[in-house]
Amino acid sequence: MTPTGQHSPELRAAARHLGRRRFLTGTGAAAALAFAVNLPTAGVAGAAELDAARIPADPFTLGVASGDPAPHSVLLWTRLAPKPFELNGGLPAERVTVQWELARDARFRRVVRRGTVTAHPEFNHSVRVQADHLDADRQYWFRFRTGRWVSGTGRTRTAPPAGSRSGLTLAAVSCQAYHDGYFTAFKHLAEDDVDVVFHLGDYLYEYAVNAAGGARKYTDRTLPDIFNRETQTLDDYRRRYALYKSDPDLRAAHAAHPFVVTWDDHEVENNYADDIDENGNPPEEFLLRRASAYRAYWENQPLRLPQRPTGSDMQLYRRLDWGRLAQFDILDTRQYRSDQAYGDKAHAPGPESRDPRRTITGATQERWLIDGWRRSRALWNVVPQQVTFSERKLDLTADAKLSMDAWDGYSASRDRVLAGAKSAGVDNLMVLTGDVHVAYAFDIKADFGKPSSKTLGTEIVATSIASGKDGAERPANWDTYMKANPHLKFYNGRRGYVTVALGQKSARADFKTVSAVTTPGAPLTTAASFITEVGNQGLKPA
Ligand code: FE
Ligand code: CA
Repeated sequence: MTPTGQHSPELRAAARHLGRRRFLTGTGAAAALAFAVNLPTAGVAGAAELDAARIPADPFTLGVASGDPAPHSVLLWTRLAPKPFELNGGLPAERVTVQWELARDARFRRVVRRGTVTAHPEFNHSVRVQADHLDADRQYWFRFRTGRWVSGTGRTRTAPPAGSRSGLTLAAVSCQAYHDGYFTAFKHLAEDDVDVVFHLGDYLYEYAVNAAGGARKYTDRTLPDIFNRETQTLDDYRRRYALYKSDPDLRAAHAAHPFVVTWDDHEVENNYADDIDENGNPPEEFLLRRASAYRAYWENQPLRLPQRPTGSDMQLYRRLDWGRLAQFDILDTRQYRSDQAYGDKAHAPGPESRDPRRTITGATQERWLIDGWRRSRALWNVVPQQVTFSERKLDLTADAKLSMDAWDGYSASRDRVLAGAKSAGVDNLMVLTGDVHVAYAFDIKADFGKPSSKTLGTEIVATSIASGKDGAERPANWDTYMKANPHLKFYNGRRGYVTVALGQKSARADFKTVSAVTTPGAPLTTAASFITEVGNQGLKPA
């Protein structure tokens, strides 16, 4: 990113002004607080303002979203792009004034907050509003307006107040390769009764779309050539988000529920580790690409201000509370990890993968996680993150291979985290995982080699939304994996998502799958359901 330091004092003053909080008058006595979060970075700071009446077509093509609900606030998002596949979404490099409103009802008869926010060209005309001073544990509806255009309506909610013990149903999703199939699972999720959706990464894939021989290529319009290349530049990543958000089912899921997002590798590049990519480019070169990818991620996700990136760094790990019921520690296992052991090939554990100097979280995040557990007063301690946490033997030999990209490749990290959970007195640990394009349910064992050892928690792995095309209920390696891993209680290779209902006495996981994604409109079925009891961890069929 171009540092602002090279600009004139006038431009720097303009940047400070734009970064300042602005109070906005709401309806009645209510004052709404919104953030003008978009700090200019390049030479167009203080860009002219576009007369919204001159926007020639609906700029709300990418839908609306909300995220990171807190007891009294939620983050609202949209992005203006009348021509989403064109550079800058078809808008000139000018500021656009956008109005927003938030109501107690879907017809906006009882508007409780409204305000004005600026969409800056420097941030691709993304719009971010922190709606504050809301009632806890309440549903709200919101929308945006500019000129004569009004966005679709989003539904969102706040978290319960600090002491609340009320229950929660979450959905976990991951891995939505556009070129592999339709987002039918999102269509069903939009209609499902959940409080919040956790997205565990691979929101987009960097690969060339047309060249991948995608499932949609044969049924949809031919995509513009700009997508027929791997994403490298900021414009590439921005337009890739536009492609993904052109999907009506993805937009419907965002409009229906608040999302809590974290990334995995493909938002940047396959299996990258910190500043190391898979093609051996110099780290300083890869970090330029990472900066572009992180910036586009920020622009396109309903994330709060502390997550705004600085160059190639972005603090995505963060904590959310759901009353006294659950503490969510959302991890980032990509940005700070050591390079994969054994050249990132499936490999039996050995001195390299066990090296205690290696880390999947980085030391700072690991300390933050364990310190947070020490202070936790929640019944459930849930860790939404990316890659498989439990041991997963890939074959039946005595020297079975493991995935070096997952926690199996960083076993010292896993040991430290589990020791930290024990010392912090975490009784009801649940890890939520994506990445592998299949659904799993694991008991997390004190010693994965000993089925009789203590069960420390459960790991629920969400299958992909589309990645891997249709998949199979029982993949070819099903028998092998189930035999090699006695703590693996469920394995299903269809596409879909998982819901988890957290309660005072138990948690229930429902694994939901669609029969196909290479054709649209497949129905949703519940493939399996499990419960785990408070104080007596371990998965049982429900
Ligand atoms: Fe994936
Ligand atoms: Ca992945």
